[in-house]
Amino acid sequence: MKLPTDEPSSRLLLVEDELILALPIIRGLEEEGYTVDLAKNGVEGEDFAMSENYDAMLIDWGLPLLDGRSLIQRLRRQGCVVPIIMLTARRDVKHKVSGLDAGADDYVSKPFSYEELLARLRALLRRSTSAAIPTHSHAFGDLTLDATRNQAFVGDASLTLRTKEYKLLELLLEYRDRVLPRSIIAQRIWGSVLEVTDNAIDVTVSGLRNKLSEVQSEDHFLAIETIRGVGYIIKHDNQVPPPQSQRAGNHD
Ligand code: CA
Repeated sequence: MKLPTDEPSSRLLLVEDELILALPIIRGLEEEGYTVDLAKNGVEGEDFAMSENYDAMLIDWGLPLLDGRSLIQRLRRQGCVVPIIMLTARRDVKHKVSGLDAGADDYVSKPFSYEELLARLRALLRRSTSAAIPTHSHAFGDLTLDATRNQAFVGDASLTLRTKEYKLLELLLEYRDRVLPRSIIAQRIWGSVLEVTDNAIDVTVSGLRNKLSEVQSEDHFLAIETIRGVGYIIKHDNQVPPPQSQRAGNHD
C-alpha cells in the first residue's frame, strides 16, 4: 500500500531502544511512504525532537537515559506540540493515563498490531493537519502554551485552565506588547460584545490571575495588569519595573 500521491510524505521520529522492534516498524513505515528517523534513547530523542521538524513522533516508554514519559513531559514543557504516540508494554489504565497526562496524544500497547499503529498514526496526522498546529506553541518569558491540550506551563509547573481562561491567556499573548481591549476579549472569547457581561470578563480575568499567582516564584513572575477603562496587558519579570526603593518621604 502506498500513500495517495497528493499527500506529502510525513516525517516521523521513532524513539525506541530495541532494534529488534524498531527495525520492522521503520521498514513498514517507509513502505507506506513515511520518512523515519530513529533515536535509541531518551536523550537522543530529545535532541532530534527539538532540532528537526517532525509531523509525528512514536515514543517508547522504557528507554535508557531518559524514559519515554519524562521525555514527552520535557518536550511539552519546551513548547513542542508535535503529535506523539506512546508505545507501552504495560496495559493498565493508570499507566496509560499517566502517559496521556504527560502529553502523549495516543498510545498503543505492546505487542501491537502494525495495522493498529498505522491507523492511529494516520488519525493523528489527519487531526494535526486539519488543526494546522504550529510546530512550537507560544512562549512568553517562562510561560509556554500548548494549544493541543489547553495547557499552560510556567517553568516546571503546569496550569490547569478552564477553556475561557486558556483563550484569554492566548489572547493576552497575542497582544503581548499592547493593551488587550475588553471589547476584543468579548468578541474573540464569547463571540460578541452582546453575549457577555462585564462581570463575566472580570471573573475570567481574576480566575486566570489566581492560577498564575499560584505558580509564581522569585524565578517566574507573570502579571496581568489592568489598564482602567481599556483592558489588560500581560507582563513577565523582565518587563516589570523593579519596586520603587526610594520614596519621596521617609516614613520609617
Ligand atoms: Ca524499550
